[in-house]
Amino acid sequence: MQEKQKDIIIIGGGLTGLTLAFYLKKAGKDFLIVEQQDRTGGVINTISEEGFIYETGPNTGVLSSPEIVELFDSLNNDCKLVIANPESKKRYIWKNKRWNALPSGFISAVTTPLFSFYDKIRILGEPFRKAGLNPDESIASLVKRRMGQSYLDYAVDPFISGIYAGDPHRLITRYAMPKLYRLEQDYGSFIGGAIEKKKLPKSALQKRTTSEVFSVNGGLTYLISALNNAIGNENIITACKNVKVDKSQNGFLVSFNNEAGQIVKLNAPKVITTTGANILSELLPFISKELIQPLSVLKYAPVVQVAVGFTNWKGLKLDAFGALMPTKENRNMLGVLFPSAIFEGRAPKNGALLSVFLGGVKNASLINKSDEEIKLLVLNEISETLGENAAPDLLRIFRYSQAIPQYDISSEQRIFTINKIQDENPGLFLAGNIRDGIGMSDRVKQARMLAEQLNN
Ligand SMILES: Cc1cc2nc3c(=O)[nH]c(=O)nc-3n(C[C@H](O)[C@H](O)[C@H](O)COP(=O)(O)OP(=O)(O)OC[C@H]3O[C@@H](n4cnc5c(N)ncnc54)[C@H](O)[C@@H]3O)c2cc1C
Repeated sequence: MQEKQKDIIIIGGGLTGLTLAFYLKKAGKDFLIVEQQDRTGGVINTISEEGFIYETGPNTGVLSSPEIVELFDSLNNDCKLVIANPESKKRYIWKNKRWNALPSGFISAVTTPLFSFYDKIRILGEPFRKAGLNPDESIASLVKRRMGQSYLDYAVDPFISGIYAGDPHRLITRYAMPKLYRLEQDYGSFIGGAIEKKKLPKSALQKRTTSEVFSVNGGLTYLISALNNAIGNENIITACKNVKVDKSQNGFLVSFNNEAGQIVKLNAPKVITTTGANILSELLPFISKELIQPLSVLKYAPVVQVAVGFTNWKGLKLDAFGALMPTKENRNMLGVLFPSAIFEGRAPKNGALLSVFLGGVKNASLINKSDEEIKLLVLNEISETLGENAAPDLLRIFRYSQAIPQYDISSEQRIFTINKIQDENPGLFLAGNIRDGIGMSDRVKQARMLAEQLNN
């Protein structure tokens, strides 16, 4: 049996764990990442095959936090940030059996068929509507109250499908879309708040924190390999099985079977978990089932992601970021991204790469369909909505039964429980997307804040 002592152990080598490790390494800390898979990156992974470069997990991020901007600055020599092609800014929404661009200016906002005439008039009153008083208001209720049913059905509902694969009636605004919640609470209006916020003085870093969509040259895997290189292989152990954390005299005892099947035991005064909520009870057996229950019940949306490549695309012009499907339209896909329109080199010349999403909380059983059934569904969606009937040259299916956590009405109790567990067990930190946001920018922000806490 091997036994070691470390100052800090990070469980999980996805983006959260790796970013945390990156900043701990910079600060000269003694740490180790313990990862169960035989590679790091978690849900982030890029594959290059038959002239296509496709993502099996997240496709793009948004430069929405100063922390992600700074991370790319630090990794500049080892991975190259790429920003979405400006011509791919459009987002299409399906209505009346065709794709309609989400309005981007005054004229398109007035002429769009997406929203009802009544709601278009009513939106003029948005800045004068009272702020809500219920801190646990759902996104659906908030949007309907301030903007109207058609904005909910044909803008926010598909947008929520695209981000959360979720249901706006169940997601609580202050947890799931905290920036939107703050706009109403701080400024009394979405429109007024957005205008006021634009006027605020900004530091150089804040000016670089935008809604720009990013990837990395060659795919997001290169962000992971750049982080791995900076952290150093000696600080990462992969292929760890049966990972458990127990209390010990000086903090915690982390044990697991290594790749060779040997039992490894590591003592550390500080342990940070970055895994999903569903395995925490098993990972931390010293915490009573009763106490940890509000974490164990966190619901995740299942997602099926399908990479589809055509070497000779003859369908609709792919001049957008992608297209989203409102629930009301009752179709099978949640949406489709156009990676080859967003970034250079993702498909052969004249070809196209699509990333189709299916399932989500509203169509959860779809994940159980066979590959053949999913393939038929996807090709049918592509044929009927994008006008390409040819057989694809590449089609790869990726299933995530626990893809995106749903920040629903149970969130307050979950955050309270996380804080309580941390208070009762000094040195233990429960991180990852069980709190603080689901996007890559949120993950980097949380990890950076945690690193600062641990470096003090
Ligand atoms: C299909 C999909 C599409 C997405 N699309 C986008 C997008 O377009 N834009 C965006 O910003 N975000 C997107 N996201 C969200 C974003 O990818 C994630 O929030 C982020 O990558 C999560 O990083 P993480 O490190 O917190 O978790 P993970 O990537 O899940 O990493 C957790 C790590 O912990 C490891 N682990 C689990 N259990 C144990 C254990 N017992 N012992 C040791 N290790 C363990 C796992 O193997 C994994 O490596 C998407 C997510 C999914 C699933």
